[in-house]
Amino acid sequence: MFEFTMVIKKQIRSLMCRGRKKKIASLVIILIFLINAMFYVSLELYNTIKNRNKDPWYKSLRYEKDYVDKMGMRVIVGHYVGGNSGGNLSQEMINTNHYAPIDGAGEGGRPVQLLQREIISARDLYSLHSYNIVVSDRISINRSLPDMRSESCRRVEYDLENLPTASVIIVFHNEAWSTLMRTVMSVLLRSPTVLLKEIILVDDASDRKYLGKELEDAIENLNNVKILRSHNRTGLVGARLMGARIAVGDVLLFLDAHCEVTQGWIEPLLERAGSDDVFICPHIDLLSDDTLAYTKSIDAHWGAFSWRLHFRWLMPSNEVMINKSKNPSKPYPTPAMAGGLFAVRKSLFWRLGGYDEGMVIWGAENLELSWRAWQCGARVEITPCSRVGHIFRRHSPYKYPGGVAKVLNSNLARAASVWMDEWADFFFKFNPSVAAIRDSQSVGDRIEIRKNLHCKNFKWYLENVWPQHFFPTDERWFGRIRNDKGGCIGVTAGTPGLGGPASSISCGSDLDLDRLLVYTVEGKVMADEGLCLEQGNGRAVWKTCTENIKQIWQQKGPRLKTLDGLCLTLVNGDSEDGIGDPLTAKRCLNDNRQIWHFERVPWR
Ligand code: UDP
Ligand code: MN
Repeated sequence: MFEFTMVIKKQIRSLMCRGRKKKIASLVIILIFLINAMFYVSLELYNTIKNRNKDPWYKSLRYEKDYVDKMGMRVIVGHYVGGNSGGNLSQEMINTNHYAPIDGAGEGGRPVQLLQREIISARDLYSLHSYNIVVSDRISINRSLPDMRSESCRRVEYDLENLPTASVIIVFHNEAWSTLMRTVMSVLLRSPTVLLKEIILVDDASDRKYLGKELEDAIENLNNVKILRSHNRTGLVGARLMGARIAVGDVLLFLDAHCEVTQGWIEPLLERAGSDDVFICPHIDLLSDDTLAYTKSIDAHWGAFSWRLHFRWLMPSNEVMINKSKNPSKPYPTPAMAGGLFAVRKSLFWRLGGYDEGMVIWGAENLELSWRAWQCGARVEITPCSRVGHIFRRHSPYKYPGGVAKVLNSNLARAASVWMDEWADFFFKFNPSVAAIRDSQSVGDRIEIRKNLHCKNFKWYLENVWPQHFFPTDERWFGRIRNDKGGCIGVTAGTPGLGGPASSISCGSDLDLDRLLVYTVEGKVMADEGLCLEQGNGRAVWKTCTENIKQIWQQKGPRLKTLDGLCLTLVNGDSEDGIGDPLTAKRCLNDNRQIWHFERVPWR
């Protein structure tokens, strides 16, 4: 910096010696230029540094509860806030296809980063699709992706001639052109032609202009790609059924319209689906909603659901983990599927009752299908050898006629009433707004299917398919655990499923699921989302339920004792009434902060 000033001074001195006015004028111009340049550079620098230290911009967008862990797939999807589909963007902007690939962008599944000034327009457009459309439009629809399979999966050999054939069904409502076409192209590029009978696109009443003739022109010259159009917005169930009805392949293979499949994805799905008793899902990887980078998701996950019936990814059971390590290329069972991506033999799909046509727009159909499959003699599995990227979105970009809550709740009410038996009563009791919708749903034909197929009950499902579940049962105590001083053991609002330090919270009413707990025979204190109270380092914490003995609290009179003889204690905090005070395990004393009242609440 010092040298730089010296040079400038020298320049000024030499200029002063020649024609004075001219020199001053040129000096002023140089100075203005220099100041401008420095201002611009420091602004870009400032913004870059500011953004490096901050969450990415899209994190500030409003979304409810759901959370995609960047490290993997810890907790995700299930409860959406409907989007505003573009807000105040111009019609011309919304209806035009802006696909303009840049050489090399996103190749190999790499992220595409925008410049600071481009981010501003990308942000405005984000709400259209709930992903970064500017980035998507820059990446070739034929982009390359790495082979995501593990070594052991690459070694598996398939007899292509003897595998069943597939009809790939992709339904969409107002999807971006580039994202949809990249889904189609990835399937065409990476599926052996002998296996791929057809790709059926089903347009669920999209109103974006570029999804009309422009889409038809794009698929015209592709082999075996068809398009069906629904004139009314039917929702994903109705649209998938339209596709399934005309499919000619042996296996129906459903994909969302914002996926990219990788090398070798279809063979393991078709091989397993051939056996006619299974709904088989690929291992779903993450396509970033911001950069479209392809990222591996955590190896060990399976699907289940919370007390509120929100779909969740969780750690599989120990048994599954052991089998996975012994045989890493083998498909493994999952209590539920995420719903967007799976394969099933066409005959099995129809034999088990297709989809529930009473389900509208979006949501709950994945749970209904999973329960039906398991309870009616089939299975739901994930094959680690088929790897497909999917853009997980933080909120749903579509319009939901009547509102997102009404749509989702009516679907949930249907699924619960048909399949969940006593646990349907539990669900309706603690979700009165869903219960209010229940009676308007006629599910007679679905109950008929359950009877005709002699399906097992939900108790069997919980005990056999998901014995690690955290729902109340008749064998488990259910209710509130209140401290003598005040306050109840409960999970403070936060990211569902991620846990954290435990404190007491206000005891609320009998219907507040946040302070209602399951207390198991072996001494686990369980909350919704599969969290267990654990003796932590200094402070008690909410952690995913495991076999850890630090999650055992034995009831000794009015006390809860750890296996090493400490008492659960409400720490003396700032509060008058005990609410908000931390929980910990301490030496047992004659102290009312160690006295707990078990207030039973009927769970159904
Ligand atoms: N979809 C549809 N009609 C609707 C809602 C959704 O055809 O009314 C399609 C959507 O375009 C997507 C699939 O159904 O291809 C699944 O929806 P989405 O991706 O929003 O669900 P998520 O993956 O977020 O659970
Ligand atoms: Mn999706």
